[in-house]
Amino acid sequence: MTPTDDQAAVPTLDLDLTSPEPIPEAGIAKALDLMRSGRLFRYGETAPGQLSPAADLEQKFATAIGRRYAIGVNSCGAALFLALRASGVAPGDHVLVNGFTLAPVPGAIAHAGGVPVIVEIDHRCMIDLDDLERQAAATGAKTLLLSHMRGHISNLDEVMTIATRHGINVIEDCAHTLGANWAGRPTGSFGVAGCFSLQTFKHINAGEGGIIVTDDADLAAQAIILSGSYMLYPQHAARPDEEAFEKWRAVTPNFSLRLSALAATVALPQLDELDERIRKMNHAYERLAAELSAIDGVEVIERDPREEFVGSSLQLRLPSLDSGQIAAIIDFCRSHKLDLKWFGQERMEGFTSRPAQWKYITPSGQAPRTEEILRSLCDMRIPPSMTADHCRQIATIIAAAVHNATHQE
Ligand SMILES: *Cc1c(COP(=O)(O)O)cnc(C)c1O
Repeated sequence: MTPTDDQAAVPTLDLDLTSPEPIPEAGIAKALDLMRSGRLFRYGETAPGQLSPAADLEQKFATAIGRRYAIGVNSCGAALFLALRASGVAPGDHVLVNGFTLAPVPGAIAHAGGVPVIVEIDHRCMIDLDDLERQAAATGAKTLLLSHMRGHISNLDEVMTIATRHGINVIEDCAHTLGANWAGRPTGSFGVAGCFSLQTFKHINAGEGGIIVTDDADLAAQAIILSGSYMLYPQHAARPDEEAFEKWRAVTPNFSLRLSALAATVALPQLDELDERIRKMNHAYERLAAELSAIDGVEVIERDPREEFVGSSLQLRLPSLDSGQIAAIIDFCRSHKLDLKWFGQERMEGFTSRPAQWKYITPSGQAPRTEEILRSLCDMRIPPSMTADHCRQIATIIAAAVHNATHQE
């Protein structure tokens, strides 16, 4: 094929990967009712025995993940910060974090005054267990913030064994793993706490919001008070007994990071749709992964069979290509309406960045193997509406992009 034939055969993607899921009609109706009532603040003076939307959502999260307590806040980043702080992280403490993650994760550590210690990842985008063991021993860190970034779940059996051996608290970042399991058990149920996101581009779209789940009464009571409950914590349902609050109420500040009643209202009916959304995304993921794996030079990230992940995005690597070639591929894809994100780009942009770019962490760039993996890592969203035709179009665009980039000289 000549390059012009190639060009002619390459379609433009007729799906906008950046477009979010609409709010179900039930959610819109409930949101309108709520707005008419004016009760957008979660601690309205609700009638006795009546559950506010925020408390209702918290209870449903606790049940879904199989934990005693759940605390709604205004974002997953805030949830991570509060979980760190309420689990005892103090200013100056080292906090281990896997190097494949999103900027708000090291940001939450910085917010708590902690010092992020980057742990290497492997070629499957899972935490490197040997490096975890090494860094735990070297730094004496007592906390691991384990980010299930883009839905990639590390070997939680091994991680928990290492954590127990070193007396480490694990906090799980589950922003992309609502509905996912490791070996049959929900993410967010392994560590001392799990943190979920209700932000528009996660599995439930409430605009903004985050949920902490935990079985630890002290952590839960502190998180509720820290989140800004104005001592109205009895209005929470999935909460510990009064005793836990008595212990913490006088010595815990109010940081005003509450979940809004409107966000909770919009989120609630989406829980009912979650299984169906996941089924559709996973179907598209399997299709797309098969198509892309067949392209020379493209590696779809391999998954562990125990990783019962939600395929809400797909990651691929182009390890044999240099940065100029990958930049050309990203441009080519953009010109065919395929929004491919690249972790290896020089400047942080959008939802992709890597540890060496977080210059507030010193010393930065101390995870060379992670940097090398992320150098060629590309990423795309998978909306539930992605069809077999879309998968075909994406594979055709990427195959042409790789062909062009490698046959330029
Ligand atoms: C989105 C995301 C967060 C932060 O969630 P917000 O609700 O936007 O604060 C944290 N970790 C990961 C892996 C994410 O994808």
